[in-house]
Amino acid sequence: MQLLDGKKMASEMKTEIASEVIQFKASGGKTPHLATILVGHDGASETYVSGKVKACHEVGFKSTLVRFEVDIPENELLAKIVELNMDDDIDGLIVQLPLPPHISERNVIEAIDYRKDVDGFHPVNLGRMVIGMPSYISATPAGILEMIKRYNIPTEGKSCVVVGRSNIVGKPVSILLSRKGYPGDATVTLCHSKTLNLKEIVSQADILIAALGQAEFIKADMVKEGAVVIDVGITRIKSSVTKSGWKLIGDVKFDEVAPKCSYITPVPGGVGLLTVIALLKNTMLSAKRTIYP
Ligand code: NDP
Repeated sequence: MQLLDGKKMASEMKTEIASEVIQFKASGGKTPHLATILVGHDGASETYVSGKVKACHEVGFKSTLVRFEVDIPENELLAKIVELNMDDDIDGLIVQLPLPPHISERNVIEAIDYRKDVDGFHPVNLGRMVIGMPSYISATPAGILEMIKRYNIPTEGKSCVVVGRSNIVGKPVSILLSRKGYPGDATVTLCHSKTLNLKEIVSQADILIAALGQAEFIKADMVKEGAVVIDVGITRIKSSVTKSGWKLIGDVKFDEVAPKCSYITPVPGGVGLLTVIALLKNTMLSAKRTIYP
């Protein structure tokens, strides 16, 4: 069994992006700039956003954090998005999800200029991704693909099972792995809460991607010998032994599943760290006007 080490990959990729920034600026380019909007004070969102701001500084990006109280009216949030869309210095604009229930996530995502949508959630980017056009690929699926590439994991003709069909993880990663060319050409099955015989389907996977958000749902008896297991799930549980008072648990029961795998991601230290890096890569692409000249 080999660990898919997201921490090591993230550190290598940050170094690569930092030197890309230096080269880009030396050839007359601007400092890439990511703007993040955070509504409210949700603990997990605060952690994710501070990780993004920190990563921007580490690679030499500019970062702007715009904060609103949880009761901000939707129209005020949308007005701020329009303002940031028009700011030529901002290359990437993201709104941390989830949003409070009185704000429509769909309206917010559609309000972001798709050319700055480095989260890859806008229908234009999702649509372009589906038909194989250049687009911003949402950060977690992009991180998963990068991991598969860097570890040279074969995907052609493999049976790949994705558990979870969210618009930000399960659905896009299932489409990406079934696209033509590497890392794709897999035969993909997308499972969800209404899937019948889930255990039987999952246990046939050469590549299993668990993105359902149910702590330790995938047990050893559901995993094929030699499978590649990518655990996207992050569930925060209270812990008396960590400094933060929280502990992160994946969707896979790691200790019993790992011995059966050829490759497996740990949680934490797996896919989560790559999500932030994929966001940086998309912001770099935007600063260079690579996808949308
Ligand atoms: P959502 O909560 O939006 O969706 C969960 C999906 O899992 C749904 O499609 C749901 O089915 C399915 N599901 C739930 N329970 C079961 C079950 N018992 N059997 C089969 N399918 C089930 O998930 P997200 O994609 O937003 O997040 C998934 C997990 O990944 C979470 O733990 C989240 O924290 C984590 N995450 C991690 C990221 C990272 O950076 N590593 C980034 C984003 C998310 P149905 O559609 O039928 O309801």
